[in-house]
Amino acid sequence: MSKITRRGFVKTAALAPLALSSLNDMAQVSVPADRAGTSDRFDIVVAGAGHNSMIAAAYLVKAGYRVILLEGRPTVGGDVKTAQFTLLGFKHDTCSTAHNSIQENPMMRNNEIDLREYGLEYVYPDPVYHLPFADGTYITQWRDLDRTCAELAKFSKKDAAAYRRMYAEYESVASTLGAVTFSPIGFGKSLNDRLADHPRGKLWQRLLAMSCWQIIRSNFEDDHCRSFMMGCPLPVQPVIDPMTGRAAYSIFPQQRNSRPVPKGGSGALTAALARYIEAHGGVILTNKPVAKLIIENGRCAGVECVDGASYRADKAVLSTIHIKHLVDMAPHDLWGQDFLDGVETWQAEVQMFVVNYATTEPPTYAVSGGVITPANSALMARPECALRVAYDFARSVVNLDEPPVAIHCPTSADPTRAPAGMHTIKVVGWQPYELKEGPEHWDVIKKQVADTYLNYIRRFSPNLTADKILAEMIQSPLDLERMNPHNWHGSCHAGAQSPAQSGALRPMAGWAQYRMPIPGLYQTGACTYPGGSVTGAPGRNAAVVMLKDFGTSIEQVVNKTPDKKT
Ligand SMILES: Cc1cc2nc3c(=O)[nH]c(=O)nc-3n(C[C@H](O)[C@H](O)[C@H](O)COP(=O)(O)OP(=O)(O)OC[C@H]3O[C@@H](n4cnc5c(N)ncnc54)[C@H](O)[C@@H]3O)c2cc1C
Repeated sequence: MSKITRRGFVKTAALAPLALSSLNDMAQVSVPADRAGTSDRFDIVVAGAGHNSMIAAAYLVKAGYRVILLEGRPTVGGDVKTAQFTLLGFKHDTCSTAHNSIQENPMMRNNEIDLREYGLEYVYPDPVYHLPFADGTYITQWRDLDRTCAELAKFSKKDAAAYRRMYAEYESVASTLGAVTFSPIGFGKSLNDRLADHPRGKLWQRLLAMSCWQIIRSNFEDDHCRSFMMGCPLPVQPVIDPMTGRAAYSIFPQQRNSRPVPKGGSGALTAALARYIEAHGGVILTNKPVAKLIIENGRCAGVECVDGASYRADKAVLSTIHIKHLVDMAPHDLWGQDFLDGVETWQAEVQMFVVNYATTEPPTYAVSGGVITPANSALMARPECALRVAYDFARSVVNLDEPPVAIHCPTSADPTRAPAGMHTIKVVGWQPYELKEGPEHWDVIKKQVADTYLNYIRRFSPNLTADKILAEMIQSPLDLERMNPHNWHGSCHAGAQSPAQSGALRPMAGWAQYRMPIPGLYQTGACTYPGGSVTGAPGRNAAVVMLKDFGTSIEQVVNKTPDKKT
């Protein structure tokens, strides 16, 4: 078996512009395909290397299995990557920045996979998030609860009390919700059974079934406070949809833990996972798009890549290829009609529109007694701006009238990401992939859309003048799909996290336990329960199921060879 250890880290140099063709695929693990044999046998072949499939692979190599990961792009990590795609020395997160939910993953919380030993370190911004308004007022979320409540009390003492009460309510149920998120469907008690043991469980059943907006509107009276509750993180599902109640509480995990960012960039997580996998005998190959599943005797026995190389799996294939693409990689009759129907009816989500800047200054906002330069800020002029996102998406309309926007400047908390005194800024808006003229029209309008966002931000952060901006890189919803096929139709979480595509229905009824209809084939990643975001939950959950099927358990694997404990 080939053992690949060479890495391709890009060194920081002087401020030199990079070719746009280099885009997001720099600065991380990059192993030429020809460094490994083309027909080695492995126990497990992993198709695609996003953070979820890498987490699953980390448990599998820890268990002693021979594992190979085949990544289609020049670097591993999927939507958890960092690249110098504007100027050398400016390390931009190509997609995700905040690593909130993964902090609750037992992998991190119990240090089951000790990624700190492999270079992963977190930074915890404080202030956590800042929301300025056109009337000159603002609300800042601080790690200190009293200080945050004082910010809301400027507008409404009742709303400040509601924030404190809802935080306590959330804290009382957080471990119950977390236990369900980090267990495969059907493993352990269901959410409703767990809530039945909780003193406020019946109330929580109601809250989770409500819409995010219903909860916010009924608990908060002031529109500034209502906007604040939806500004960061902006819920990934339309806030008026039923079953989005949990999103009304999504500000509270970051009240407790901040919005953690890996030191050096989001990609530090997947770079650490790559080091862990290789250190435990795993093999990682990049530039290896998988084209086909190898089926023998009705069983998935390996994969074939676009370059013709094949990789055999003695035990299983684990895929994180989008289900819309996966079904075309084996004869359709092998999937069964139920599965094909599920793929056919799979829906995209409200997409992101992203602009990355290399700057000489962070976004700076006026506050009482001076200015603030937060790592996270947002614009949400009125609650209606969040409400209308779903309507614009449904109509395929690009709406730039006071658009909701998130502004991330991780260098404000982690100066290692840019040359001394410089900054990286990521502006995230929500716009539809589908346009009346077709998605290709994004190539025509994206610069104009980016400039409109920037001019809007300048009303609140007037220091971001043209002379402070050294370079920009735009990612339209179409670009997000081009850079990662798993972002199907620009979906940053692989597809809508609607009731129709959640829980036991993700990816579809009957197939929510990571086992696919073709024996020997497993699926992980954002198409699977509990969905997208940097949670690592689909990855660890898939490992739970696979290890059980192999006759062991994740507990045995973790306890047999503990990684270094704190
Ligand atoms: C712009 C943007 C901003 C975001 N911000 C945040 C944030 O701040 N916080 C947060 O929690 N989440 C954020 N998200 C969402 C989050 O990053 C993703 O939901 C998550 O990273 C998905 O991880 P994954 O492991 O499921 O798959 P991915 O990261 O999508 O990885 C899948 C991998 O499979 C590879 N692949 C696909 N097909 C093939 C094939 N045929 N052959 C070989 N390889 C293949 C892909 O190249 C990719 O590397 C953001 C997403 C985007 C796009």
